[in-house]
Amino acid sequence: MADFDGKVAWVTGSARGIGREIARRLAEAGATVVVHDILADAARETAEQLRADGLSAGAVTSDVADAAQVDATLQTILDDYEHIDILVNNAGVTRDGLIVRMKDEDWDLVLRVNLKGAFLCTKAVARPMMKQRSGRIVNVASVVGIMGNAGQANYSASKAGLIGLTKSAAREFASRGITVNAVAPGYIETEMTAKLPTAVRENFLQQTALGRPGTPADVAAAVHWLASDAAEYITGQVLHVDGGMLM
Ligand code: NAD
Repeated sequence: MADFDGKVAWVTGSARGIGREIARRLAEAGATVVVHDILADAARETAEQLRADGLSAGAVTSDVADAAQVDATLQTILDDYEHIDILVNNAGVTRDGLIVRMKDEDWDLVLRVNLKGAFLCTKAVARPMMKQRSGRIVNVASVVGIMGNAGQANYSASKAGLIGLTKSAAREFASRGITVNAVAPGYIETEMTAKLPTAVRENFLQQTALGRPGTPADVAAAVHWLASDAAEYITGQVLHVDGGMLM
């Protein structure tokens, strides 16, 4: 399965959860993976674990929502590995609450990390990818960016925005051999969803045709495929990885 030999992949928010599994999957496929996260120790540990398993990985720490830090991160990647072939915009946060009670700062933080962060990282890789006339960008959106969710107006808006960003970037970069797609996971068991009340979890599962929660590996498999040569004629698409929650 070594279809990414010689490729460099930057996965944001990959110290844990879905991002960590994406990083592992791409590394197992032969890529050198940049484990990027705001959590320095966790990012380092994840990269060390991958290297201990014989895979190629390094760790970088920064905030995806800070333009100067993102530019510095890209520079570090180019200094260390000389090129960037795959970007996975996975970093994300939730600050759930009903609209009437939602604090402005919770709206701002979620939009900043989930949407502006993806914009800044996309902007950073655009120039080198355009120059090399190839690249793959995969954005981790969410089913709630399409169907909405009570209590997640900020998060749903950020993911709907990410889908708009995906389609616009796909149109802008297509002539340079760069594809931009999104995955829209449903209910996936990670630290992010562990915080959800049991009733919310059960409600999600009731809506899931396949009757089980998704795993980070389910999402990683879809990202792997979209980043591979097999998906070279696919751009601007949203691939649902939700066990049939939304059809
Ligand atoms: P998680 O909280 O386990 O992982 C998110 C990672 O992003 C963490 O390591 C965190 O430190 C990092 N991060 C947060 N803010 C950051 C910042 N400013 N800069 C850099 N890194 C930052 O969550 P997860 O469940 O693994 O989610 C990963 C992605 O998948 C998110 O975009 C999330 O919205 C999306 N998603 C998750 C689910 C689910 O059910 N878990 C469903 C749909 C979409």
